[in-house]
Amino acid sequence: RLEIRNLIARYEGRVVVDDVSLTVQAGQVTCLLGPSGCGKSTTLRMIAGVEMQETGQIYVDGKLICDTVFRVPPERREIGLMFQDFALFPHLSVADNVAFGLKGHKDEKRARVEELLRKVDLMRFVDNFPHHLSGGEQQRVALARALAPRPRIMLMDEPFSGLDNRLRDGIRDETLAILKEEDAAVLLVTHEPEEAMRMADEIALMRRGKIVQQGAPYNVYTRPADKAAVAFFSDVN
Ligand code: ATP
Ligand code: MG
Repeated sequence: RLEIRNLIARYEGRVVVDDVSLTVQAGQVTCLLGPSGCGKSTTLRMIAGVEMQETGQIYVDGKLICDTVFRVPPERREIGLMFQDFALFPHLSVADNVAFGLKGHKDEKRARVEELLRKVDLMRFVDNFPHHLSGGEQQRVALARALAPRPRIMLMDEPFSGLDNRLRDGIRDETLAILKEEDAAVLLVTHEPEEAMRMADEIALMRRGKIVQQGAPYNVYTRPADKAAVAFFSDVN
């Protein structure tokens, strides 16, 4: 379970994340949805630990990992990351990319890598290099890599935006099924209402650094909090 309480971030005197609080339960997907520049990625970077909040607390499964005085380093937060550019290591095979964050005995690592490559249906590429793979296949390797160490939390920043339209829906559904199996708490950032409607258990609508509405997708969509929310949702078909 991920909990963030009253996070505030400021750049050059301007508040860009303004008192954001959220809880994401294990096995659930919360979509942080909002227009460009509203502070979505900054929120994720603070949770990942690559950026420091001005005030506020972050908890993983009830344990404090960061406040203004105490800070668990990023690599010990049990958080998986997936961003828009999949950023696979070009000089490592598919198997070695997936094994990258794994510790332990060689045989255990190998078993986990194969388990995940089966889930994403890429065992046939196990010894290939990333440049042999299509965009959709690379996306699935990145998913396998992020999930390999069994993170409690998965942070995903527009992970489907580099994919071609034709592939996107299928990959969204497959990704969702795998995330559910792995039982992580998922915070997925998107600026596309359609993606949030398709993937979220809960939507947190963000605007100018604030969460302006939060709830089940159907409720947020059918009962937008204000005119700006109506306008934002109007391009969902
Ligand atoms: P997008 O959908 O375009 O990715 P976003 O919601 O992820 O947008 P952020 O990247 O969190 O938005 O940025 C929020 C605001 O903070 C923006 O106005 C941005 O210009 C500003 N900002 C982000 N990073 C920095 C930085 N390192 N220095 C100064 N300003 C920044
Ligand atoms: Mg962003």
